[in-house]
Amino acid sequence: MYLHFLGGAREVGRSAVLVEGSKNLLLDCGVKLGENEEYPLLDRSIIKRINRVVVSHAHLDHSGYLPALYAFGYNGKITTTKPTRDLIQLLLADYLRLKQDFSPYSQEDVIKCLKHTDILEYDRGTEIVLREAGHILGSALTEVEMDGKKIIYTGDINTRPSRLIEAARTDLSGDVLIMESTYGGKSDKHIPAKEAGRMLIDSITQTFNEGGKVLIPTFAIGRGQEILFTLESYLRSGGLEKTPIFLDGMINKALRIYRHNAIYLKDEIKRRILTSEDDPFKSKYYLVPRTKNKEEVFETERAIILTTSGMLNGGPVLGYLEKMAGDRKNKIVLVGYQVEGTRGRKLLEGEKSVQIDDHEIEVKMKVDLAPFTAHSDHSELVKFVRSTDGLKKVILVHGEGRKPFELAEELELVSEKRRHQFEVIVPELGEEIRI
Ligand SMILES: [Zn+2]
Ligand SMILES: [Zn+2]
Repeated sequence: MYLHFLGGAREVGRSAVLVEGSKNLLLDCGVKLGENEEYPLLDRSIIKRINRVVVSHAHLDHSGYLPALYAFGYNGKITTTKPTRDLIQLLLADYLRLKQDFSPYSQEDVIKCLKHTDILEYDRGTEIVLREAGHILGSALTEVEMDGKKIIYTGDINTRPSRLIEAARTDLSGDVLIMESTYGGKSDKHIPAKEAGRMLIDSITQTFNEGGKVLIPTFAIGRGQEILFTLESYLRSGGLEKTPIFLDGMINKALRIYRHNAIYLKDEIKRRILTSEDDPFKSKYYLVPRTKNKEEVFETERAIILTTSGMLNGGPVLGYLEKMAGDRKNKIVLVGYQVEGTRGRKLLEGEKSVQIDDHEIEVKMKVDLAPFTAHSDHSELVKFVRSTDGLKKVILVHGEGRKPFELAEELELVSEKRRHQFEVIVPELGEEIRI
């Protein structure tokens, strides 16, 4: 049996791993967003051999290239959870709209992809089993049993419960673990979500006191809802001054999907949505800009704007940035991982201007970071491996720069202490590993 790393190896983006055995199974099929978009190393001859595709979660770096499979002649099924199917529908439609003529596939391919998607509930199934991954609504760890071997693929995982969803399942067993390493670096240590929430509220209050507005770019799915939930609970308790929260881009539509899939959320949230008037995703403070140039947002004295995309690759956030960047009183708060080369990363690294289309925008507004996260950090990833039985190989993907290597070093120490040791591998893009 072979594992073929077609994307997401020593990088974050275009996740795609081909499991080649008696059947050929593709785990994830994403795009790598950025100035120059990149796709998995899939050609027609590989696509022809695929028997089934499993999708770990809806984020485009795991799902954005799925319709291209159909454009290149794939006719098989996709397996994923129900919320992921619903969220993918939204994300792919938006991706297509943004890319217009530059999309690698058409509307018909998207429809074909959705029609070929089979839903698999958590903890069901035989050869393929999906387990809670704790990352976003519907996210799943995949267990594959084939040819007498068991492979675990984490997708993106979070082993601590977030405000909205339960933590990833641990205590699993398998021969091979393919694990993400986004925050695998030795210095990657996450603060508790409560503390990140406090930092965000303090940062917003400070800006309000100075008479500015706050722009929060975020992923439409996952982070967006966690942030909104945080803002709503502070508004409710009086910890945050009453203020309109403008939701622009897909966040609002994604909220609807969160609500429709309430049974996949934590019990407390489920109860609030399904059986009470206390729905955290409904509030008179949530507003959607009605006018094309969004005057109402700029005319309000105080405002929080929550919009996509999270790394400033595109989407409505760029329009807000253009209008708000020149005012020192305003602030942009980055709330998640910023991939190398993105505008978000550049701002975080202190650059004082950003390029949008053919013009350069001077950034005078404050730039702040509230480290919300939907991923496990270094020590949590190590702990996840420690809790997994029977491992012979641990393969690290979905990490940039030194991060997967620093995690590998630590895991080698874990292996040395085991009676049955495992090998740790950080594959290169395109590498094939025999298992
Ligand atoms: Zn993700
Ligand atoms: Zn990812």
